[in-house]
Amino acid sequence: MRILIVEDDHQIGDGLQAGLSALGFACDWLRDGRQALAAISAAPYDAVVLDLGLPGMDGLAVLAAWRRSGHHEPVLLLTARDAVTDRIRGLDGGADDYLVKPFALGEVAARLRALIRRRHGSSTPLLSHGRVAFDPAARQTTLDGVAVELSARELALLELLLGNKGRVLSREQIEEKLYDWSHEVESNAIEVHIHHLRKKLGSDFIKTRRGLGYTLSDEA
Ligand code: CA
Repeated sequence: MRILIVEDDHQIGDGLQAGLSALGFACDWLRDGRQALAAISAAPYDAVVLDLGLPGMDGLAVLAAWRRSGHHEPVLLLTARDAVTDRIRGLDGGADDYLVKPFALGEVAARLRALIRRRHGSSTPLLSHGRVAFDPAARQTTLDGVAVELSARELALLELLLGNKGRVLSREQIEEKLYDWSHEVESNAIEVHIHHLRKKLGSDFIKTRRGLGYTLSDEA
């Protein structure tokens, strides 16, 4: 899952980026409202964490501009404790949820997962396909009910494939979801992750569509 963070407070932004990355999100962090305006189109973001008080352009104006231009990515607002009016204006202006500072990192992650889940029309937190089940919150995978050890990137790739059943994802689409701006992608990285997932979850779990990309096998 790829997240855009817009927050000018260095400590909070840095904490969010490091913390959410450790929890399996690919995160890009911007500090300026005006930069955020265009950045929403720069990658296929699954959700946005948006601070309201920003230099350049305030968060409410950024949000309004995104919604006007047809960007429907779920937005989680960060607001000050006494900013009730901001929260009301934010929610009425197209935000999906908010958190009051100071907040716990675990709650940010849980709210992002819930927003992304809802956006995909699902209320169940568990993802599964055939013999494989994945718990996005615990970052745990099972095969026939037995825990399987996966790396952070393998988990992110599995989560992406499970969220796109019936669709073929190209290597470029997968790279954009798994890697933020700060990570250089090796040219064969996705092939290597696919290879490892097949080894751990079954050779026929992921199908290759030659020249197009990857998709999950037809459910048994
Ligand atoms: Ca701020």
